[in-house]
Amino acid sequence: MRKITHLIDAQSVESTSGNVGPVYNPATGEQTGEVDLASVEEVDLAVESSKKAFQEWGNVSIAKRVKLLHNFRNLVNENEIEIASRLTEEHGKVSDDAKGEVARGIENIEFACGFADSLKGTYSEHASTGVDVYTVRQPLGVCAGITPFNFPAMVPLWMIPNAVACGNTFVLKPSERDPSAPRFIIELIQEAGFPPGVVNLVNGDKTAVDRLLEHPDVSAVSFVGSTPIAKYVYSTGTSNGKRVQALGGAKNHMLVLPDADLDLAADAAVSAAYGSAGERCMAISVVVAIGDIADPLVDAIKLRMEKLVIGPGDDPDSEMGPLITREHRDKVAGYIEAGENEGANLVVDGREQIFDNSGFFIGVSLLDHVKTDMSVYKDEIFGPVLSVVRVENYNQAVEMISSNPYGNGAAIFTRDGGTARQFQQDADAGMVGINVPIPVPVGYHSFGGWNDSLFGDTTMYGPEGLNFYSRPKVITSRWPDPTTSQVDLGFPQNN
Ligand code: NAD
Repeated sequence: MRKITHLIDAQSVESTSGNVGPVYNPATGEQTGEVDLASVEEVDLAVESSKKAFQEWGNVSIAKRVKLLHNFRNLVNENEIEIASRLTEEHGKVSDDAKGEVARGIENIEFACGFADSLKGTYSEHASTGVDVYTVRQPLGVCAGITPFNFPAMVPLWMIPNAVACGNTFVLKPSERDPSAPRFIIELIQEAGFPPGVVNLVNGDKTAVDRLLEHPDVSAVSFVGSTPIAKYVYSTGTSNGKRVQALGGAKNHMLVLPDADLDLAADAAVSAAYGSAGERCMAISVVVAIGDIADPLVDAIKLRMEKLVIGPGDDPDSEMGPLITREHRDKVAGYIEAGENEGANLVVDGREQIFDNSGFFIGVSLLDHVKTDMSVYKDEIFGPVLSVVRVENYNQAVEMISSNPYGNGAAIFTRDGGTARQFQQDADAGMVGINVPIPVPVGYHSFGGWNDSLFGDTTMYGPEGLNFYSRPKVITSRWPDPTTSQVDLGFPQNN
């Protein structure tokens, strides 16, 4: 069985607390590993190491930092298959999704490689007679990242490249459910030449998170996970004086107008609802069918669902893998039952699909005629369950999105440019797709939702990430007029 330890000061550190957590291969249901869960003392060790490393790292030249980031980018690229296979082994996602995750992570390293330009600062010459004013951006110190199970490689890469580019050091606390890929990535950071302590990793649960949130030497916390924990992390971290960005859960709507390209919309609904088994914060979980497109759309989605191949992530034929744990699979099954009991029409029941192994599999489900007071609509299910809500017009659809507490992503499918443009204005969400179901921004924009999908005022990665991980310092300078110098420097006035 694989033993997953902490990485502190570039050394593998075993926990002495005796607390461990199980790691499973979700495709077989077998326990494949045991992850150390950090005690308060182990978290302190990591923070102390990062604090010490910051004294030098904060002063390392831009040229050197960029060089190391390039080394790191190349190593992640070279090890794409190894990272992807660890993702599949512990998360369960299919190989293409796993490789896609690594590729999206690399985008963030590449963005950080250009930080020298983004963080140049500003300069106002002659703000007053003989006075110049300029702003530089400086690092915060030790930053911490707490990440979810569903993108164990990509989400740490939303944080770490920008944080270290800005001159901070970093302590990562990845999800304890699939810790091998993030650990391997931190090993690659060491291999790239980053000094020990610049990036440390502690595995753990609430104990580790709580210690990071209260530790006096942690300046900033980046969190990605479910809404209740995001709220908790935000309020606890900020009340301890830290800068916090906390991204939460989601319930993403996809509007389909009567003039939409039916095939495009149905393909998009299926890939966005069931890709990665629906365990994506940008997954589409509600299709809002406007007017008379509802019947043909439901038929087209159903047709495509029947063809989906569900199986182990390492089987090249699989298009969807298992869920993360048995408990989560059972919870998702409970929602399907609740939806049916609450009056939705269960068009496809994923519970009926039989799998010939003991992995955490469930088939894909489609519920039609869902109402907004049903639990399948209100709750984030985080599984392969798609609800269809039927409405009469655009305004009702937009109102539905606004009334929903989450606000991560929203998409519209239409051929009408004017309506699409209006939607981009009206949608109460941080990321909007126009004929694009999962509008995850490229690495040189930033990622984050609104409302209960984000606590804090900075979204993640891209330019907002650089802002989060740096703080402005404004210098106002005045120099004596050199023409009045006692020493003859050759100015005409001196003669
Ligand atoms: P989670 O909230 O259970 O866990 C996230 C992190 O918080 C993990 O590292 C975990 O160890 C820690 N944690 C869990 N319970 C805690 C507690 N009581 N106190 C302190 N720390 C705790 O989330 P998850 O199940 O790992 O991930 C899925 C969730 O993440 C979904 O809700 C999904 O929408 C969300 N998510 C959001 C985004 C986004 O960008 N908005 C991206 C990915 C995932």
